[in-house]
Amino acid sequence: MPNLKNITRTCVFCRKKFEQKELIRLVFKDNDLILFNYHGRSFYFCNSCSTKILGEMKKKEYKRLDNILKKECKGNQDYVTKLKEILTYVR
Ligand SMILES: [Zn+2]
Repeated sequence: MPNLKNITRTCVFCRKKFEQKELIRLVFKDNDLILFNYHGRSFYFCNSCSTKILGEMKKKEYKRLDNILKKECKGNQDYVTKLKEILTYVR
């Protein structure tokens, strides 16, 4: 039996593995980036990355985050701003 308490997921930004409960889970649904609501394909950010995202990101990091989100959301909107709104709300 797998131990369900220790499922690990990868943070899309730093690529490190964490227990699911330590991560902020997001989903892209109906053309919008939202907190995970049990539908759709989700992806994760760890706490230290969300702190970084809400703080000062280097231009290179911002660009990389933008690319990750555009890939995950399969779109071309300003998801970084939306992500910051969500992270501000959940923390
Ligand atoms: Zn991370």
